[in-house]
Amino acid sequence: MQFCKECFNDPEIRADIENLSIKGKCPICSKEDVSLFDFDIHHEISNVVEYLSSILKLYVPESKHFGVFSESMFRTIEDSLLEDWNIFSGSKEQVKRIIEEFVSISLDLSNKIITEKVYIPELYDESYLDNNCFMGKYTWNDFKKYLRNINRFHSKYIKLDLLENLLKETEIQVRQGTNFYRARVSNQRGNRGFTRKEMWAPPDDLATPGRANSRGQSCLYLSNKKKTAVKEIRAHAFDYVTIATFRLVRDINILDLTLITHNSPYYSEVNKINYLINEKLLKEIESDLAKPMSRWDSELDYLPTQYISDFAKFLGYDGVKYKSTFDNSSYNIALFDSSACNCIYHANFLIDALDYKLNKVK
Ligand SMILES: [Zn+2]
Repeated sequence: MQFCKECFNDPEIRADIENLSIKGKCPICSKEDVSLFDFDIHHEISNVVEYLSSILKLYVPESKHFGVFSESMFRTIEDSLLEDWNIFSGSKEQVKRIIEEFVSISLDLSNKIITEKVYIPELYDESYLDNNCFMGKYTWNDFKKYLRNINRFHSKYIKLDLLENLLKETEIQVRQGTNFYRARVSNQRGNRGFTRKEMWAPPDDLATPGRANSRGQSCLYLSNKKKTAVKEIRAHAFDYVTIATFRLVRDINILDLTLITHNSPYYSEVNKINYLINEKLLKEIESDLAKPMSRWDSELDYLPTQYISDFAKFLGYDGVKYKSTFDNSSYNIALFDSSACNCIYHANFLIDALDYKLNKVK
C-alpha cells in the first residue's frame, strides 16, 4: 500500500513521510511528484505505522459495547477520524481507503473497525473522564456559564491538579534584561503626556478589570513591540500617546498560553485519549484568549481568562503570555508582580496615521 505526505495534515506524519525521500504519484489522492510512504519498504523504518495504529487502536467496534447506549455514540471509522482529529487532509472516501488497506495488512487491528460502526469507550466512562479530563464530563461552556451566572469562587467543574499539569507544559522563562512596552492615550494631557510614574500599572484598588486581572487587582500589561502596545490601546489618528519601556530586572517564569494547544497528538508520548478529551477544551480556552476585547465589553466577558490567569498566579507564576489580537506576530504579557521590571524610558508621540506611524513629540 502507498499514500503520500499530502494525504495528511498532521505535521509529525508529514515530516516522517518527507524524510523517506521516495517520490511519485499518490494512488490515494492522485497528486503527482509527492513524497510517498510505501508499506512494504517503509513499515519498519518509519513511525507512520505506529502513529496510525496508536489512534486506530482507540476505536472499538459497536458489537463490543454492552449496556446503555445511544445511537450517536457510534460512527464509522472514517467519520470518527475526521471529526476527532486533524490527522488526515483528504475526503472521507480517501481516508476510508487508507484505513481499509492499513487494517488489512496490520497484525493487531480488528477488521471489525471497518465493517462496523465504532466508538471510544472511555469517552462515555464518567469515572475515566473524572480522572483524566481537567473538566471531567463538563464542557468549557458549562463552566463559563456557571462562573458568570452562578458561582464565581467555587466550582466542581475544573480539576485543578489536571489543569496544573497541562499548564505546566507551557511554562517558559523570560530573561532579565528583556524589554517590553506599555502605551497610554494621553490626550487629556495634550503633548505633556503621562509621567513615568503614571506609566506603571494602577494601584490595586483603582485597577480596572482586564483579560488577566479582576477589578481591584493590579496587573501590568506589556507588549513585546512598541507598535503593538499602541494598537492594544486602540489609539486613533491624532491621539497623543505616551509609550514607556519596561526592562525585566530578573528572570521571570510565565505560562505561555500561546502554547496551550498542540497541533499533533504525536507531539510527545502523551496518552492519546487524554490528548483527545483535553485538547478540545484547551482549544476553546485558546479561542477565548484570542478574542478581541474592547472597552465596551462587559466585565463578565473577561471571567474565563481571568480564571486561568488567577490560577497561574496562585501557582506562583509571574505572569501569562498571550497572542496580540491586533498583530499576529506579536505577543503581550500580563505581569502579576510589576517589581520584576523597571521603567527605563518614556516618551510622547502623536499618532500620525492609521497605520500607526509614530511621530515623536518635541
Ligand atoms: Zn496522497
